[in-house]
Amino acid sequence: MKIQILKKNKEKINFKIFDISSAFAGEMRNIMISEIPTLAIEWVDFHKNDSVICDEIIANRLGLIPLTFDPKRFNFKEECKCKGKGCSHCQAKFSLKKKGPCVVYSGDIKCTDKTIKPLYNKIPITELSEGQELEFEAYAELGIGKTHAKWQGAIVGYRNLAKITITKKGEACKEAEKVCPKDVFVVKNNKLKIKDADKCNLCMQCVEKCGKDVIKIVPDENKFLFQVERASGLSNKDILTKSMDILSNKLKEFSKQIEKLK
Ligand code: SF4
Ligand SMILES: [Zn+2]
Repeated sequence: MKIQILKKNKEKINFKIFDISSAFAGEMRNIMISEIPTLAIEWVDFHKNDSVICDEIIANRLGLIPLTFDPKRFNFKEECKCKGKGCSHCQAKFSLKKKGPCVVYSGDIKCTDKTIKPLYNKIPITELSEGQELEFEAYAELGIGKTHAKWQGAIVGYRNLAKITITKKGEACKEAEKVCPKDVFVVKNNKLKIKDADKCNLCMQCVEKCGKDVIKIVPDENKFLFQVERASGLSNKDILTKSMDILSNKLKEFSKQIEKLK
């Protein structure tokens, strides 16, 4: 297996991955989306809410705020020593007390543990008019995207890279450069050439224009382009490494079960 990073910043990572099957690529995506433990607000205890938005909607908005946290620090509540009662190893406590006129933002909620905070401070929660008050305590817990979208680790897309061949006859079909929406071709010395095959999204417009026998495009079955964007407080590095740990644990478990067979 070979990986080539194409683009990387705090929010996104794009990479090419070679010599894997489509089943492996699909499982990588599923794990990153739905099986990585992340932290999200699960319980809210409202003391005052004079805003026009009801408690349930505010609680829903709070749950969707991505929270930064140390992935090694928390247990799932049901696996914790407290036996699901809730303690500092499986819950993080937040509080908020605001009086209008003001807009209440994600950055206004404060955690008792200073290492845990909203990833973005300017997510609006509600607006308070003159004299209106909002006061609550909230508790965040670990969960996975399979249970609820608020625990989704990342937004992940992938596709096969394309194998493109231009035949001798195809070099004359310069229209392909114009119809291609992804800028894959270039015309050089009056001949059609490939500029960047990785951009091809297999739409087949060039093949329709020039004919199957002059431009041949097939998906390369073992080469993929991945685009990963974090949807939680975890870094892209944490998302990728954790997804590989989860996959490797699944395989270990599978092999244990096989060993039990006689
Ligand atoms: S299949 Fe579509 S994206 Fe790919 S080279 Fe042809 S026109 Fe461009
Ligand atoms: Zn606990």
